[in-house]
Amino acid sequence: MIERPSPNFNDRQLPIAMVVLHYTGMQSGAAAIDWLANPESGVSAHYVVAEDGTVLRMVDETKRAWHAGRSYWRGIADVNSASIGIEIVNPGHEFGYVPFPAAQMDAVHQLVADIVAHHAIRPANVVGHSCIAPTRKADPGELFDWPRLARAGLAAAPKPCMDPNWTDPGFLAALGRYGYDISAPRDAVIAFQRRHRPARLDGAIDAQTRTILRGLLLAEGL
Ligand SMILES: [Zn+2]
Repeated sequence: MIERPSPNFNDRQLPIAMVVLHYTGMQSGAAAIDWLANPESGVSAHYVVAEDGTVLRMVDETKRAWHAGRSYWRGIADVNSASIGIEIVNPGHEFGYVPFPAAQMDAVHQLVADIVAHHAIRPANVVGHSCIAPTRKADPGELFDWPRLARAGLAAAPKPCMDPNWTDPGFLAALGRYGYDISAPRDAVIAFQRRHRPARLDGAIDAQTRTILRGLLLAEGL
């Protein structure tokens, strides 16, 4: 692991309970790392994972890095205080979204495994930036290999179940119960699909979308 300290952090106000995954969304990894280390930027992350799998540590885990911005998850609005932030180098939707290379995904998997074990973080609290800021963010995006983390027990996986046949308001209430900010309902549904049904991000509350959410709630005992 390479140390590349950022000055952009302060003290946590909450215990660590989440991991938030991002993509850098800039033209190059070097530019993103420089930005995260620049005191003018006001942004940072605990770790950055380069395309070749190199991991940089920018903020100590005990400190509050500035990666989540205005966001919400399961009653927590100060997500920065409660989370460890990982930036994954990728140009993102704005600059040419590309699949995450195997070496990079291997490194993310190992890093998340270490963090989850060390802090006893629940799989459902390993989330993407888009999950916690549905109106603003799309990262790490639909190409990220969430199923791999889920198979390893590091991210949420739905239990098999039947379509609960919720009405649309019933689905949204359940989505809120699961942890999403549902104040912008269509954005919340698309954020849910980006994480859990990436093949079709249409915002339609269809049988598959309902069934996945029901299975997640069952897995969480909610
Ligand atoms: Zn992000």
